Amino acid sequence: MNDPDVRALLARHGLTLSKNLGQNFLRSGAVLEQIASAARPAERILEIGAGIGSLTVLLCREAGQVVTVEIDRSLEPLLRQEVTAENHRFLWSDILKCSWPELAETCFGGKPFTVVGNLPYYITTDILMALFRSLPLWEQAVLMVQKEVADRLFAAPGGKDYRAASVLLQSFCSGELLFDVPPGCFFPPPHVTSTVLRLRPRPDAPEPEPYIRFVQACFAARRKQLAASPALRLLLQTDKEGISALLREAGLPADARGETFSPGDFRRLYNLAQKNFG
Ligand code: SAM
Repeated sequence: MNDPDVRALLARHGLTLSKNLGQNFLRSGAVLEQIASAARPAERILEIGAGIGSLTVLLCREAGQVVTVEIDRSLEPLLRQEVTAENHRFLWSDILKCSWPELAETCFGGKPFTVVGNLPYYITTDILMALFRSLPLWEQAVLMVQKEVADRLFAAPGGKDYRAASVLLQSFCSGELLFDVPPGCFFPPPHVTSTVLRLRPRPDAPEPEPYIRFVQACFAARRKQLAASPALRLLLQTDKEGISALLREAGLPADARGETFSPGDFRRLYNLAQKNFG
């Protein structure tokens, strides 16, 4: 595809961009093509954030059905001109206020779908959490995030980048970093490099809500020993000795900090916590 002239298109429609909505639009046809082909094969696509519709148009060529959730209704006249494919519809809504089960049912008849988005970076974590919580409704996600966020998500245990989000992502999904996108490929250029990643739900992913609560409690005081974590004690309704016993049973050092455990360790610990503390 040719490089879209984002500036000219916005000017023609008298639009100004909102920094608050993370509106950095792709202006590289090659990158847009790369993202669209990374979504293959996809019969049903849920796109997050339309921008000027450059990615939307390509996605409509890839899939049988495409639904785009876009919060900014001022883009509607432009988007109605740019996106005319019959297999597409817009939902003018805040993705964070959408019920994913309802989206899946009303848009795709309850069938699994692929999520694609050059994400608005100010809500990346919230979108990821919504993705985890909605498992197993979707079957693949191709997302552009800030490079440093991508590095954190795939970080190894023990390092400074290893967080609750790393454990959650690696517990719920298998994933790969596909390619980096420099600031110059956007209008206006953001201050950071971006990365496109692909996620697929793990077949053995835990039930989302209780596992998210457990991992977040383990990281609430990441510099402390896990057995001394007030949040974990509160969640499991036990004391330091109860958590130490759990760690021993899982074959983990009783004086360890959570940030040194692998996602597999967390899973084992969580399963034992469920068994022992319900
Ligand atoms: N897909 C386009 C592209 O690649 O050029 C636009 C990407 S731009 C980084 C993010 C888009 O998400 C913007 O169009 C913005 O208006 C939209 N957006 C921001 N917050 C949103 C929200 N809470 N729900 C839905 N869309 C949102």
